[in-house]
Amino acid sequence: MNRIFILALDGTPYTLLKRLIAENRMPNLKQLVGTASFKQMDSVIPPVSSVAWASFMTGSQPGKHGIYGFVERDPVTLNWFVPLSNRLKVKTLQTNLSESGKKVFIMNVPMTYPPSPVNGISICGFLGNEITRGTYPAEIGTLLKARGYIIDANTELAKSDLNVFYEHLIDVLEKRIETMWHFWDQQNWDFFMTHIMETDRLHHFFWEYMEWNHPVWAEKFYRFYELIDRHIGHIIKRIPDKMPLMLLSDHGFTVLKKEVYLNRWLSDEGYLKFLRPYPETLEDMHPDSKAYSLYPGRIYINLKGREKNGSVTTGLAYEQIRQEIRQKLLELVEPESESKVIRDIFLGEDLYAFNDDRKAIIQNDSLHAIHNNFPDLVCIPYDGYDLKGNLWRDNLFEKTIFNGTHTLDDAFILLRNGELPPGRFSIAQSASIIYRCLNVDNLVPGAEI
Ligand SMILES: [Zn+2]
Repeated sequence: MNRIFILALDGTPYTLLKRLIAENRMPNLKQLVGTASFKQMDSVIPPVSSVAWASFMTGSQPGKHGIYGFVERDPVTLNWFVPLSNRLKVKTLQTNLSESGKKVFIMNVPMTYPPSPVNGISICGFLGNEITRGTYPAEIGTLLKARGYIIDANTELAKSDLNVFYEHLIDVLEKRIETMWHFWDQQNWDFFMTHIMETDRLHHFFWEYMEWNHPVWAEKFYRFYELIDRHIGHIIKRIPDKMPLMLLSDHGFTVLKKEVYLNRWLSDEGYLKFLRPYPETLEDMHPDSKAYSLYPGRIYINLKGREKNGSVTTGLAYEQIRQEIRQKLLELVEPESESKVIRDIFLGEDLYAFNDDRKAIIQNDSLHAIHNNFPDLVCIPYDGYDLKGNLWRDNLFEKTIFNGTHTLDDAFILLRNGELPPGRFSIAQSASIIYRCLNVDNLVPGAEI
């Protein structure tokens, strides 16, 4: 059957689902796994929702689609901003499918704001904040507002009252699922996708309680997944048996050991200086600064000719400072646990440049940095360390209200009535699986706009 139903559970780890199935907490998922392919999946670097779902929708890695994190900076002005869907450099699968005449419904997927025209309905995900401006066609937004639809849970509630936040999360989830069925019943969609952000939000505030068997919150965590399982049961009942059904997440989760403020480290080591105490923007950076960081774990050299007040020259000086920072950060130890913090650090071009660009890089001796907006260094932490980008913090390591954090290699994918390739699998490969399920093999992921 050349149609597909997709349910995305943001930040749900493969290993968690395996355990919940084994503990009989998700009987419907257990039944589904018995008739489907189900495996662990890699996220992308960095494993945050806007980057990973951009890879899902475009079938490409960040170096190609152009989204490297939640925030981006303009090196010329040093202004920072949140990259939205209009910065994607590669066509999305919903655009490709629309152009080949498929009927498309896509709801709540990150990086779909502002909404692009589709042959059907597109409802924005969490980077949009007003639903009446977040849908295509526009009138759907008015309808959703009247139904009490919520784009994303209000995480501020978690800071004042976890009980209130938990009930609110359930409310947001239930409204989304109701809305999903409302549109499902309207016509025979070829591509029908709903993304659930509430799992990620639950994990950020409750993961540690679950892992440590907190007397109240562990059970509530599991109750949330039992609710998800009931919805999976309804999906199994309501969609045709022969219809391809895909469930997937975009990254895994683990207990947050410590937040790590990389700009604090750069400042302690003398690489980053400010024009005033308690800096708030990159414009408060002193022109002598050598490097600064953006969330999560991206380091930019303050490069002459690229950044507004660049101080490091291209060529040898640039390469030396990158190596120096890389070596030192790989040795960084968190004093309380005496554990190393950074698992690996990549040069931006090793992760994000393509063959042609690489040739140019070698020939032009790092001048690439002037032409590309990808980071100069990308840090991959050991599981449990969250590499923050705040400009100023009193401490290098902190533990705040957040108690769960993302992991790179424990996302999952499940596919019924379709085939997953053998071996390790990345979220960037799912677009080609979807094209195959829909029998549109002529569409190739990764075509640039
Ligand atoms: Zn998250």
